[in-house]
Amino acid sequence: MKITLSLFIILLCISCKPQPELHTPVSGDDIKKHMEEISSDKYMGRMPCSEGEKLTIEYIKQELESYGLDTYKEGEYFQEVPLLTIDGKMSQEMSIDFGTKEMKLQKGKDFVIHTQRKVDNISLDASELVFCGYGIVDEKSGWNDYAGLDMKGKTAVVLVNDPGYGGDDQDFFRGDIMTYFGRWTYKYEEADRQGADGLIIIHETSSAGYPWFVVQSSWTGPQQGLSGIDRSQDCGIKGWISLMKAKELFETAGLDFTAEIKKARKPGFKPVPLNSKVSVNLENSYEECLSQNVLAYVKGSTYPDEYIVYTTHWDHIGVGKVVEGDSIYNGALDNASGTSALLSIAKSFSQSPRPERSIVFLFVTAEEQGLLGSEYYTRNPIFPLENTVCNLNLDGVNPAGKMNDFTITGIGHSEMDEIADEAAKEQGRYTMAEQQPEKGSFFRSDQFNFAKSGVPVLYAEGGYDHAEKGKEYAREFKDNYVAKNYHAPSDEYVEGEWDIDGMVQDAQIYYNIGNKLANNRQWPKWYPDSEFKRPGKKLQD
Ligand SMILES: [Zn+2]
Repeated sequence: MKITLSLFIILLCISCKPQPELHTPVSGDDIKKHMEEISSDKYMGRMPCSEGEKLTIEYIKQELESYGLDTYKEGEYFQEVPLLTIDGKMSQEMSIDFGTKEMKLQKGKDFVIHTQRKVDNISLDASELVFCGYGIVDEKSGWNDYAGLDMKGKTAVVLVNDPGYGGDDQDFFRGDIMTYFGRWTYKYEEADRQGADGLIIIHETSSAGYPWFVVQSSWTGPQQGLSGIDRSQDCGIKGWISLMKAKELFETAGLDFTAEIKKARKPGFKPVPLNSKVSVNLENSYEECLSQNVLAYVKGSTYPDEYIVYTTHWDHIGVGKVVEGDSIYNGALDNASGTSALLSIAKSFSQSPRPERSIVFLFVTAEEQGLLGSEYYTRNPIFPLENTVCNLNLDGVNPAGKMNDFTITGIGHSEMDEIADEAAKEQGRYTMAEQQPEKGSFFRSDQFNFAKSGVPVLYAEGGYDHAEKGKEYAREFKDNYVAKNYHAPSDEYVEGEWDIDGMVQDAQIYYNIGNKLANNRQWPKWYPDSEFKRPGKKLQD
């Protein structure tokens, strides 16, 4: 009897053992083909609302259509994203008046400014300058860089990053890891809340994570925001000045720059008047336009109302300032690579067994203009965010060849770390934390909008430990790219210089992670000490 029962159980287990399923691996040839196409000059740097957008979204749509994926509405691959484009012409000079002396800053070289308001003309007219430390107000810790100030009629001058950067205490603003308080987007929002006339951020290359020319090229020319948001009470003029001019400003105001920064890093800092008034002007022309997020999905076989959402941004910064005879910012790595990898992942899912949960492939617009496509999607989700299991974001897929590492940007927030770690081990790799957390990369791509909305995210890639050529080679390759090509016209796909195998490896691990989560019942959780939380009562409760 006993034996028979055991035998029965064994037989039962054999018969119910899942059959190995045939999954189509992601294709390197496809990735390469897509990348060559959409990073070519024909696509003119894929600026939202340009001819380049039309070509790009049509290309993505046709690919998705050819895979036979599901659409959220009959035949609909697009989600309209209304954008407001403001082209602000900066006055040639920004003048800072000290009463007896005057300082003149040159546009582009020394300062850049812009406005998010839809107005013809806006200026700072002898607005009082005040040094407001890092421009941070944190109710939890009681930190307040605007303490005791009414910012009406005033312009705040603030430092980039947060006071933890460069210190020894890992618990003080998370040490070198940039907190959200270190991001310029946060500083903008806080200046809005303070009702300041203007906000000027002092650029410093190591704390910002990029050189001045990136500030200059990113904030010169037309700027886009989401349309239909009331900004009439916001801080009117926002911008940046170079470190050199900031030092000159402090000196002329009779202040020791280094000593003032030291004070700003300590609790109890009080804002410091800069004994001067700033004047600068912007003349705006603006237009509104509709850009598009592009999406399709694989409907889950068992739990179609639970979603794994992949994101990647299709846009880049278009045509701009000529550098070495080239004005087209092709954005091959940023982010033709992610777009191509996600197309390849979508195709693989379309050719593999249907997963239990649904899998969404979302190609968002206007990431480069401030994560706008993903912001619009998370404000107006097509698939409910409370039913979204996780967001897997690709932005800049490793072009340097196969890696031993799978480096997580924004590690320590959720159980997505453990899921990534398991998938990495299966590929013979290991996970680690991003190497320059001071850059705040976690806040600089589309997963951030999902995190803010409570959806656990993964944003990871290989790039620090080359499988054959080692760590030094990987480091050099990366540093070289950032220095030469990041947001420059030279971000181009060059046959022979890039090793596609690394992209295939990362696209495959992203596929594996999505596939695993789409075929189990797991709802990855935020760690208790993370600043992010899943909102309300949801499917997973
Ligand atoms: Zn990007």
